[in-house]
Amino acid sequence: MENQALRLAGLACAKVMREEINAEVSRLQAQGIGPKLCLVRVGESPDDIAYQESIERSFAKSEIAVECRAFPETVAESELIQTMQTLSADASVHGVLLFMPLPKGLSSDRILAHLAPAKDVDGATLASMASVYSGKGQGFVPCTAQACLSLLKFYDIPLSGKRAVIVGRSLVVGKPLAMLLLGEHATVTTCHSRSQDLPALCREADILIAAVGRKHMITTDYLRPGQTVVDVGIHVLPDGGLTGDVDLAEAQKIVSAYTPVPGGVGTITTLELAKNTVRAAAHAQSNK
Ligand code: NDP
Repeated sequence: MENQALRLAGLACAKVMREEINAEVSRLQAQGIGPKLCLVRVGESPDDIAYQESIERSFAKSEIAVECRAFPETVAESELIQTMQTLSADASVHGVLLFMPLPKGLSSDRILAHLAPAKDVDGATLASMASVYSGKGQGFVPCTAQACLSLLKFYDIPLSGKRAVIVGRSLVVGKPLAMLLLGEHATVTTCHSRSQDLPALCREADILIAAVGRKHMITTDYLRPGQTVVDVGIHVLPDGGLTGDVDLAEAQKIVSAYTPVPGGVGTITTLELAKNTVRAAAHAQSNK
């Protein structure tokens, strides 16, 4: 019989998140607060610009203001540090996102050290990472990692006691997601480019997260029936369409559930950013 894999579409989850965000924005507006995010972009990378445009579109739907401070690649690190200090002190700005990676010669660590953790809505500062790692404090979780967890929870995928395997150990996805899944009582394995016999490790997973940045690397060899597969990858095809790290056409024939690309994790990521920005605004208000 043909396998009927459940499609974990981002749209249904996004609809609920959007309603919650809009309700919170209305509550803040009634108190005279307009949540605002400031983007800091260096250079004109098409990836950064595409992400900026998707943030602007998404935030407009919830009446969250977005401002962008764009700098040439020749900008001095000291100017970016000063920008972080200015934005940290500006009460009208609730969240700040620095597009990364930065051009060579600029240190995101040194620059982000000057961003107030309360405005670090993308979870990029060491203070936010400490919070994710310890499960304590008010720090923000990187939006993509949180988006994966939100989708799994929205579709009631069991996590407690389950084996989760993450392919990828970046600071924006793999590592924070490992901490989030541990927090949900999953047994977590984090794999990377030096992991041996990756297909066998992946086949052990109940929940397999592909955050590897290689188009269709996860083929049927990595899969077995019964798995839930979360595809974080985003790759632009020659015709302008998008695809992920998983060969989903084949995966669907084997696994129990999967997130599509497009229309999966990416659909939720900017909403997580909106949620964090609104939370930062509410927190700033309650601390007045
Ligand atoms: P990075 O390039 O920072 O990390 C990739 C990870 O994959 C690294 O840990 C690397 O290992 C590992 N890796 C690379 N090649 C292999 C291999 N052959 N076998 C096993 N592991 C390997 O990527 P990101 O985490 O930033 O992004 C991952 C993917 O997610 C990308 O496709 C990106 O476009 C997408 N993305 C999607 C977002 C969304 O909203 N949906 C947001 C952010 C990213 P090592 O550490 O050893 O080098």
